[in-house]
Amino acid sequence: MSKRKIIFCDFDGTITEKDNIIDIMKNFAPRGWEYTKDQILKQEISIREGVGKLFSLIPSNKKNEIADYVLSTAKLREGFKDFVAYTKENNIPLYIVSGGIDFFVYPMLNGIINKEQIYCNGSSFQGEKIQILWPHSCDSGCNNDCGCCKPTILRGFDSSTYEKIVVGDSITDLQAAKIADKVFARDYLIEKCKQHHIPFIPFSTFYEIIEFLEEKEVTI
Ligand SMILES: [Mg+2]
Ligand SMILES: [Zn+2]
Repeated sequence: MSKRKIIFCDFDGTITEKDNIIDIMKNFAPRGWEYTKDQILKQEISIREGVGKLFSLIPSNKKNEIADYVLSTAKLREGFKDFVAYTKENNIPLYIVSGGIDFFVYPMLNGIINKEQIYCNGSSFQGEKIQILWPHSCDSGCNNDCGCCKPTILRGFDSSTYEKIVVGDSITDLQAAKIADKVFARDYLIEKCKQHHIPFIPFSTFYEIIEFLEEKEVTI
């Protein structure tokens, strides 16, 4: 019996055209945040530590301004809504696995994806500066201190039942890509997949992913 497809799709830079955290920092963080960003990309500090640090630079009272900023400036990648429709029509479970933060991820996906299908980080605005919460941290099988641990989420689904498909764009998708059955990659994740000898299918719009999934459906 063939396995059932299940898709785990990244948010920042994958569903949205740009990385929202980077965009938020460009507009709201004081000078010097780039150093932390570079440390994350070079894997000198963990994603959890880095993202926590970045948001701790920003006052909590900027919450609504940031959410409005993301809503009004972020663009969904071409084909995403049709991709969601395609997965529904074909009964393919689709989960969003995001290192993004609830207060801008939920509003961006409102009306497109149910909250129950979204794994992302949480946030608290009780303190003077924004504090990030981590409801989906790493299991014992991951020592990357991911923040929102994508491989842990993937492991929550039985590998003998599901063909796990990962869609992503960056370093935060690498650990999930390593244990996925199939990887759709763009941007920096392409480089990383090559480096780690992980087979991948490059994409730039979600129409290409639909096409690929449809073709496979036919040839099987
Ligand atoms: Mg991303
Ligand atoms: Zn992890």
